[in-house]
Amino acid sequence: MQNLPEDLNNIIGDYLFSCKKYPIYINKEFTEMFCKKTKNCKEVTISRKTYCQHCDKNQIWRARMIMNNLLTG
Ligand SMILES: [Zn+2]
Repeated sequence: MQNLPEDLNNIIGDYLFSCKKYPIYINKEFTEMFCKKTKNCKEVTISRKTYCQHCDKNQIWRARMIMNNLLTG
C-alpha cells in the first residue's frame, strides 16, 4: 500500500486534532501535524475550568461575563 498523500493526511489531521487541550499521540508524523494544527492554542483557566484562548473564545467570553456578574452583583 502506498503512503497517504499529504493532502489526505491534512484532512485526517483536521478531523483528529481540534485543540491542544485534547492531545492525541498516534505516531511521529501525526504528532508533528498536531503541533502545527494547534500552534495557536493557549490554555487559560477561569473558575477552575480550562479553556483554550484560541478555540474557546465564546466560552471564555461567557465565563468572564458570569464572573463579572458574580463580582459586581
Ligand atoms: Zn485550542
